[in-house]
Amino acid sequence: MTVLDHALAPLVDTLAVPTDLLVGGSWRPATGARRLEVADPATGTVLASVADADVEDARHALDAAAAAAPGWAATSPRERSEVLLRLFEAVREHSEELALLICRENGKALGDARGEVAYAAEFFRWYAEEAVRLRGHLGHAPSGANRILVGYQPVGVSVLVTPWNFPAAMATRKLAPALAAGCTVVLKPAAETPLTALAVAALAEEAGVPPGVVNVLTTSQPGPVVGALLADRRTRMLSFTGSTEVGRVLLRAAADNVLKCGMELGGNAPFVVLDDADVTDALDGAMVAKMRNGGQACTAANRFYVHTDVHDEFVAGLATRMGALRVGPGADPSTGCGPLINAAAVAKVDGLVQDALRRGARALVGGSAPDGPGSFYPPTVLVDVPHDAALLREEVFGPVAPVVRFDDVEDVLTHVNDTEHGLVGYLYTGDLARGLRLAERFESGMVGLNRGLVSDPAAPFGGTKQSGLGREGGTEGLLEFLETQYVATSW
Ligand code: NAD
Repeated sequence: MTVLDHALAPLVDTLAVPTDLLVGGSWRPATGARRLEVADPATGTVLASVADADVEDARHALDAAAAAAPGWAATSPRERSEVLLRLFEAVREHSEELALLICRENGKALGDARGEVAYAAEFFRWYAEEAVRLRGHLGHAPSGANRILVGYQPVGVSVLVTPWNFPAAMATRKLAPALAAGCTVVLKPAAETPLTALAVAALAEEAGVPPGVVNVLTTSQPGPVVGALLADRRTRMLSFTGSTEVGRVLLRAAADNVLKCGMELGGNAPFVVLDDADVTDALDGAMVAKMRNGGQACTAANRFYVHTDVHDEFVAGLATRMGALRVGPGADPSTGCGPLINAAAVAKVDGLVQDALRRGARALVGGSAPDGPGSFYPPTVLVDVPHDAALLREEVFGPVAPVVRFDDVEDVLTHVNDTEHGLVGYLYTGDLARGLRLAERFESGMVGLNRGLVSDPAAPFGGTKQSGLGREGGTEGLLEFLETQYVATSW
């Protein structure tokens, strides 16, 4: 196991963070001996380097996953459940080191990183419990000719591709149900944040996951490497979390082998505050929905629609709370808003803000990028944002809250649904029945009703329209990694 580079070593003294590829139970350098540097977004300095896999490594990882598949599929649900429970305990035991690792490679504030690790660990516990609760069913054919026996089998070798914004949770949300179902996997984490996934894989080994069941490829060439994995006929499932743009490319690639696909893609979440809402509650929810991970979340509130009766009170409160957040390195406990992932992200966010300002929006706080070092952007509240501003249509992925005033609920519903995305929407009202009626009219896979946080390992997370296919978490998340088999018989 390779020892971490100097900058991270003091932070992770009890956590072994390998920096090579995990293939068939052994840690090995990339075939081409290439390395990939991981930078700290708070300073731009290099934290560590990891192995940089190419297509030959992809083939080796798939060889290992395919070889381990029959043995893992044949284990009992109880055995798989116990491995997952040990993994849950291992992540919990190392939660502080994992949180610091996430702060350093992703940049998020320590509180957010701790929250992510707790969330990530819970997927192992939830699927340890689900592994032994899976039931088929028995029915009669209407004609009486035969009985209908329905059961489940693991889908087979699964390719898991994850983004940088939740480097632990996006990996465990896939690993846990895949392992519970009896699938072997090749995990490809984002090049920006490979260390957390490698640390989780090392804990999986410690917890007793057999060699070849979990393989990890870190790479600077995701196109060719993932392409090679999807083109191989031994692969049966693609589980992807990332942008809609890359998701479309991978769906096309997956079509050749007719792979089962779970796709968790981008969002453009509306946050609606009705005239009868409790404004303090709505502000509490808004801060979570907007600022978890500095706004770099697929579930981030992307656009706020606030009824004219409560608009001024809401925006004043939001500006005060956003303006009070201290911007700094995530690992500093006083930081409320860490850096964005890189300089390109800052340029994109600032471009969207300047476009809105040119179109007549006003900044109550924030509104421009500071000079470096580090890829920081200040928490920003924009009011009087016109409907044609690009940041109401695109995923901002930063600490920017654009607010639009409204007075007609029907009109605001049209805007809520006027997007190709359909991941999540938020709604605040003092009347639960009214809220439920309106929630049903949101074209999204999830609604936060008087809640700024919807993520829960026990709940089916996922989107409609171009936000995705399938669900992660809940019982639904396990079914994604299973094939239904029906046996016709009579006795
Ligand atoms: P991304 O699409 O750029 O990358 C995601 C993953 O795909 C990474 O591992 C990346 O290396 C890989 N990738 C990139 N190009 C590829 C290619 N051509 N072929 C194969 N793999 C490729 O997304 P990102 O910037 O890492 O993450 C941010 C995006 O993820 C946002 O759009 C966000 O909304 C979305 N996201 C969605 C969810 C969800 O659950 N719906 C959760 C988190 C993030």
